[in-house]
Amino acid sequence: MSEYQFPYKDADFLLNDLLDFDQMCLDAGLDEVNSELASAILEEAARLGSEVLAPLNTSGDRSGVKLGENGVQEAAGFAEAYRQYVDSGWASLAADEQYGGQAMPRVLAAAVVEIWDAACVSFSLCPLLTTGAVEAIAAHGSDELKNTYLPNMVSGEWTGTMCLTEPAAGSDLAAVATKAIPEGDHYLLTGQKIFITWGDHQMTENVVHLVLARLPDAPAGIRGISLFLVSKFLLDENGRPGKLNDVACVGIEHKLGIHAAPTCTMSFGDNGGAIGYLLGQPNKGMMSMFTMMNDARQGVGIQSLGLSDRSYQQARAFAKERLQGTNSDGSRFPIIEYPDVRRMLMLMKSATEAMRGLVYFAAAESDLTRAAKSPEDAQKHIARTGLYTPIVKGWISELSQEVTYLGTQIHGGMGFIEETGSAQHYRDARIMTIYEGTTGIQGLDLVGRKTLGDNGEALQELLDEIHATADDMSEVNGLGGMAASLLKAVQSGREARAWLLEHATEDRNVAAGVSVNFMMMMGYLCGGWVMGKSALKAAALLEAGNGDKSFLSAKQITAQFYFDHLLPRCASCFATVTAGSKSIMALDVEQF
Ligand SMILES: Cc1cc2nc3c(=O)[nH]c(=O)nc-3n(C[C@H](O)[C@H](O)[C@H](O)COP(=O)(O)OP(=O)(O)OC[C@H]3O[C@@H](n4cnc5c(N)ncnc54)[C@H](O)[C@@H]3O)c2cc1C
Repeated sequence: MSEYQFPYKDADFLLNDLLDFDQMCLDAGLDEVNSELASAILEEAARLGSEVLAPLNTSGDRSGVKLGENGVQEAAGFAEAYRQYVDSGWASLAADEQYGGQAMPRVLAAAVVEIWDAACVSFSLCPLLTTGAVEAIAAHGSDELKNTYLPNMVSGEWTGTMCLTEPAAGSDLAAVATKAIPEGDHYLLTGQKIFITWGDHQMTENVVHLVLARLPDAPAGIRGISLFLVSKFLLDENGRPGKLNDVACVGIEHKLGIHAAPTCTMSFGDNGGAIGYLLGQPNKGMMSMFTMMNDARQGVGIQSLGLSDRSYQQARAFAKERLQGTNSDGSRFPIIEYPDVRRMLMLMKSATEAMRGLVYFAAAESDLTRAAKSPEDAQKHIARTGLYTPIVKGWISELSQEVTYLGTQIHGGMGFIEETGSAQHYRDARIMTIYEGTTGIQGLDLVGRKTLGDNGEALQELLDEIHATADDMSEVNGLGGMAASLLKAVQSGREARAWLLEHATEDRNVAAGVSVNFMMMMGYLCGGWVMGKSALKAAALLEAGNGDKSFLSAKQITAQFYFDHLLPRCASCFATVTAGSKSIMALDVEQF
């Protein structure tokens, strides 16, 4: 079983050399935050991640969780680790100061979250959902709800959940059937939610559920859904958890991965109705919930990155140790000497670095929004965040399947054996393309709301920026080949955008049919952009004689590998996009 080490050098390079972290903090009015503080924070987080959380990854996977008389009992060691996490202030890192947060930059928070995800993704799911719930309450809650719940959730003393899914309402939330009947200053909720992550546990004194439900007179479909806050314990006159509310976990799922993250069936109102409070406007619940969902979608992208890196680290260690070849003098050599093992390791390494770059770029957009000098500037960054979100969730989670698959492949037979640990990363990664909106839903979001919705404007701006990077690269000695490849890829990105805008209205299946390949194409292109920018910066630093020579030259070679092996996938995605949906939809259902 390999240990986990946070890749400081890559994080430092992205934060400081590519994103100019210090300047970004100054622009955002965060005068006391700088790269030195960021390094100290990352070092502390990495200590908790590798020393406390990483060891729980295997034990939690093996033991899973149990449902008993008092609800869900989390895996051994999780409560102690969570206490340490809360006591060290990690829960409040990026939250608003008004409710006790530390208002640290989002890009730094993303770097820290990668550590929790890589160390133990079952653990990190709990804070992920709390952070999203905090965002939604802060954006849509009344002052009373904010003042009552946020300080306890920001500190991590209480955790949050997201209760959307029902047996008949998964991707199609228009079918949500949970009911909310008004009663005095609150509502009584009845219904069942399934697959609720960390829906119950004993780690904290309260759990706060954000629940989609329907008011009695609500219109049918998405326009009739409202959002409610339901806490596990009703609060007493001092705002402390008192009597149990009418909500309980009635079942837990046995599943392929993330065994230590409880996946709960939650029953609301078995004894007359769970007391809940309306969050935001009646019938506008989906809009409010999107605040939480967007946060969680980027969060799943970071989970996929963390798992990819963990899998890469483990495969790298194995490839250096496993002797499976004999030299002419009879001595044996490790499998890392084989070109095909190198190919797999390089794919894992370059994909993971591209994912990390995109995660940081996307998170930095929130800081740039905070730093914006004008409403127009802020709007530009908000639109870019919206554009990135389905790519971060969809492309990274899909690519993490391949990376963790290769991690197992590099282990040979041992990869299939649980004891090694590699199989767990592969199993844990499998959920990433499913929850928080499947890949299909991310594709639809990118082509629908994010591209057709603004006539392709935000995408056009992104493509222009990628084009500008390719132009810059073409001026630098040694980067001409990569510049030409990036130009070619960005040109097909432009053509795919134009094709979509032109053909989307032809028939209703076109945009939906091509959407996932369109999203994957933009993902590979964004990855190429990140790696191209990295190669440019590495060249400048090497030329100036600054920085770690070995790291910078490895960065250039890794970028070259990405350009040779992953960027060309843009071309095949482009071909499938422009093939349209005809052959996808041509068979009758009976012909399957
Ligand atoms: C471990 C785990 C944890 C989860 N945690 C939570 C949680 O905390 N809170 C919560 O509310 N839910 C949670 N979920 C539920 C999860 O978000 C849903 O499973 C997911 O959104 C898919 O819904 P579904 O399972 O009903 O699949 P379906 O919606 O039935 O989808 C089945 C297939 O059809 C495709 N499909 C469906 N609709 C469309 C469409 N319009 N266009 C194209 N393709 C489509 C999907 O892409 C998929 O391939 C969790 C699920 C799991 C397994």
